[in-house]
Amino acid sequence: MRRVAKTVLWLALAALLLLAAFATVQYHRAPSLEPYQPLTLPVAQNAAPGAVQVRFGGVATLVFDDGETAWMTDGFFSRPGVLETAVTRIGPDAQRIDDGLRKMGVTRLAAVVPVHSHYDHAMDSPVVAQRTGARLIGSASTVHIGQGLGLPSSQVQRVEAGEQVRLGKFTLRFIASRHSPTPYSDGHSVERIESDLVPPQRVSAWREGTVWSIHVAHDSGRTWLVQGSAGFVPGSLAGLRAETVFLGTGTLGKKSNAYREQFWNETVKAVGARQVVPIHWDNFWLPLDQPLQAMPLLLDDFAVVMQDLQARGQRDGVQVRMPPLFAPFAL
Ligand SMILES: [Zn+2]
Repeated sequence: MRRVAKTVLWLALAALLLLAAFATVQYHRAPSLEPYQPLTLPVAQNAAPGAVQVRFGGVATLVFDDGETAWMTDGFFSRPGVLETAVTRIGPDAQRIDDGLRKMGVTRLAAVVPVHSHYDHAMDSPVVAQRTGARLIGSASTVHIGQGLGLPSSQVQRVEAGEQVRLGKFTLRFIASRHSPTPYSDGHSVERIESDLVPPQRVSAWREGTVWSIHVAHDSGRTWLVQGSAGFVPGSLAGLRAETVFLGTGTLGKKSNAYREQFWNETVKAVGARQVVPIHWDNFWLPLDQPLQAMPLLLDDFAVVMQDLQARGQRDGVQVRMPPLFAPFAL
């Protein structure tokens, strides 16, 4: 009997090791970004006065800057490793946030605006607000993240769906959208943060709150849409126009063709965009001091995403371009 038990134990151990080895190998498999290098938007050289420049800092972090007013989505720079994220309590990493802001050339910001309240968007936002004087703008869940890190009420602004916020010559309109359906979030029910969130916490503490489509208009006439997650609410963007869509593509490579078609129609086509810049495709468990890598194939397939976007773009006359990291680019 004892010998049987021992054998079972050894077999279980071997199976566990095999599983761990398999997961490790799979985790390191990701599509190459090499084929998309030629699609990288050119770095803007001495912008015309008042022209809007955008910078990309990984995941869905973007800076919009017209030389007079700068504001940022997310500001997520900590990027704790995958094991650290899975098994420990996590929180903002001040050193990495300072490095990220420096690399993006950011000192002062009018606002920091998380696209929703998951940790890979909103965890660092209050620290970004503290460093830059920015107002933290977002849902009630985002407000709890700000208050948990001690932001004064004067530096926190709660917005409701349909609201518009003016930042210098920028007008931001907040439209309620949906999260990409994932094992982590079903994309329909909205999970909220119900009380002030004091890090470090388990990753699951950063519940999504309202998932925004953020429409951005500048007095110069330029328009953009920031779609932070690969979810959508049918018809929610009707009547809005945007030249460029920053399209959150995380997990889109694992969705059906029908889902990708609908996502494209309800975002890019809905606003009549001429240009799509994919965001939220990088492996955010890797730090920003090394070149970005695509999400592991276990979770997404960026090659499928790009093939899909480029085919739809060709059909509908929409350019698909990649953002350079940190450097300002013109659209
Ligand atoms: Zn999310």
